[in-house]
Amino acid sequence: MLVFENGTIIDLVRQIDLTDENIEVTYFNDAIITPAFIDIQVNGGGGVMFNDNQSPSAIETILRAHRKNGTGYVLPTLISSVPEKMFSALQGVHQALAEHSPGLLGIHLEGPWLSPEKKGAHDPNTFFDPSLDELIHYPWLVQGKTLVTLAPEQVNQSALEWLNEHEIILFAGHSNASEKDFTNKLDHISGFTHLYNAMSPQTGRELGVVGMALRHNDKWVSFIADGHHVHPSNIVMAAQLKPKNKMVLVTDAMGSVGSQDGCFVLDGEKICEVDGVLINKNGDLAGAHITMTQSVANLLEWGIEKSHAFQMASTNAALALNLGDELGYLKPGYRASATILDQDTHCQAILLEGVIYNS
Ligand SMILES: [Zn+2]
Repeated sequence: MLVFENGTIIDLVRQIDLTDENIEVTYFNDAIITPAFIDIQVNGGGGVMFNDNQSPSAIETILRAHRKNGTGYVLPTLISSVPEKMFSALQGVHQALAEHSPGLLGIHLEGPWLSPEKKGAHDPNTFFDPSLDELIHYPWLVQGKTLVTLAPEQVNQSALEWLNEHEIILFAGHSNASEKDFTNKLDHISGFTHLYNAMSPQTGRELGVVGMALRHNDKWVSFIADGHHVHPSNIVMAAQLKPKNKMVLVTDAMGSVGSQDGCFVLDGEKICEVDGVLINKNGDLAGAHITMTQSVANLLEWGIEKSHAFQMASTNAALALNLGDELGYLKPGYRASATILDQDTHCQAILLEGVIYNS
């Protein structure tokens, strides 16, 4: 049994050892209780796209849609956009954090400092190499975590240094870099965004971004496990190559997750889910239509061990965000946050800092 008080875990005991009769007890039958899932790449949910609406109420709709599907904590993710929208996204998250929006950890800015050659569904007209003058004007978060996905070959060295100095976590992604392009830049990067997707491939004569992500054991890699973005065998192979604590499961979910009609609007284009896939008019995959619990179920089906899958869905993301001393484990002193699943990995409820949300 998980014993908690004021949002913090105070003990883990067997039921027989729980002697204090004043403790209020909630039972879940035949349940799996794991550290609350953390999704560091969520573009939308409940019919809302973060790119369309950056208000605290829109953020709350996204958090709620994912909470119903097993995700306790989220980084709302802004797809490459104009600076005005980045400002508004940072301000929206700042305000929602100040209002203690449950499950909000910060923000993920995916671009716009990306490679046009690996644009995916991003609008390359928004891409640029940021100058220091530009960087200092962004309303960066003062609390919460900021993750930025950028293409190292598109961003100047001083900008990378400035972002590191301001405790902004940098992942490489949407990048066509060669191994040589990472010279003097690799130390600034702590991970790689959606392994295999929108990155230069590994070939016989070139490591590519894929090879860099797999070779460097001190770097995190996030990945999408919907079975459409990446072949399952590639994920299983990466899980064999990378240290157990370096693979981070993300959904890259769009607003269609948890919405009535399975549709959302991105840059004025209406995109709908067909057979579990989201494709834009150019034929590119436009994010994913999947939940964290379904992603975990897929990993188990592909032969990943249950404990490793849960680690990928929670602990490793907490470590990647430098939150490994408060989230990602069920231990005394940690936040009382857990995902409660049935034996088929369907979400029964979420415990979030001592508050239970039933699915
Ligand atoms: Zn992407």
